[in-house]
Amino acid sequence: MKNKTSKLYFITLILTVLTICILNFLYTYEQNIKKNIYKQISILKNRIIFLNKVQYFYDRAILEYNKHNNKKAIFNLKISKSFILTYNIQKNKNFKNILKLIIKTEQNIKNNNKFNFLNYQKNLFIYISKIDDNFYMKTQELTQSFENFIYKNKYNIIIIQILIIIISILIIIVLLFYKLKTIFKNNAYSDHLTKSFNRRCFFEKIKKLPKGTHSLIMFDIDYFKKINDTYGHDIGDYILKEIVNLIKNNIRKNDLIFRWGGEEFIILLENVSKNKAFEIAENLRKLIQSHNFNGIKITASFGVKEIKNKISANDLKTLDNALYLSKQKGRNQVNVLD
Ligand code: GH3
Ligand code: MG
Ligand code: MG
Repeated sequence: MKNKTSKLYFITLILTVLTICILNFLYTYEQNIKKNIYKQISILKNRIIFLNKVQYFYDRAILEYNKHNNKKAIFNLKISKSFILTYNIQKNKNFKNILKLIIKTEQNIKNNNKFNFLNYQKNLFIYISKIDDNFYMKTQELTQSFENFIYKNKYNIIIIQILIIIISILIIIVLLFYKLKTIFKNNAYSDHLTKSFNRRCFFEKIKKLPKGTHSLIMFDIDYFKKINDTYGHDIGDYILKEIVNLIKNNIRKNDLIFRWGGEEFIILLENVSKNKAFEIAENLRKLIQSHNFNGIKITASFGVKEIKNKISANDLKTLDNALYLSKQKGRNQVNVLD
């Protein structure tokens, strides 16, 4: 039961970590896409600004040309050309046309040819407008694609979150169920006062006993009535609890102690023969005898019975007889019966 619960805790932990990772991944992914699209849009915006500069310096060149200031006109054309050369003009017909137009204007001015500059300006405006439109469309497309991405993923993220919440709730319910089951089982099988197992648990436990040689130790506190009468019932309770703790701390982990009734207990020793069980009982007897129960001295009488494979009613009777023998023979001793 304990293992199952810790496994479930482990799964919940893994799931939580996984959820955080997925959400983080989605968030980073979305942020990256956003960054990328904004970068592209800002590049496009810069291009439009540069294109305005191409137009501006071309117009200034024509202005200078009209003032017969050819040198300044050529200078402005060169600046205009330098702006158009910042683009990858091979890819676009309009860019090529703009470059051609600037070069042609330059040649005309250099050679003092007559040319219709109004026509040239009009053509330049048309090419630039076409590119502008194109840029505008692209920007729109990018913005739209980003909005679509956000719209689509918004629902994906919500669905993932809902799924994770449902799974987590289910796991919590299962965990609570196991926890409650464990609590109920522990309550049903443990003795309220001493926290040892109870008689009911003893009968459950011996049903599942593996085949082999085992031993039972039964002990009963000597003159316990007198203790109760002298020191009070509360001190009597304290002694019962203290004895259980003392024994629990001095037996193997898989040896179990059951409260048989009143101040009588049974210890189940799996795969332990009677000789070894006698030794263990003797040690426990000495331990109780030498223990200081808040200034009170206590002794207990023990009975030991070896069991082959299964525990029968007769075995329990013999065990009881062994304990009775210890009482009869003067208490504070261990007796083994076959
Ligand atoms: P002996 O066993 O040596 O023959 O004498 P005894 O005085 O111990 O006799 P017995 O075993 O018959 O007495 C059992 C006493 O244990 C009776 C009862 O008052 C006491 N007792 C049983 N259960 C509890 C408990 O939960 N708390 C306390 N304080 N006393 C209990
Ligand atoms: Mg007693
Ligand atoms: Mg008794």
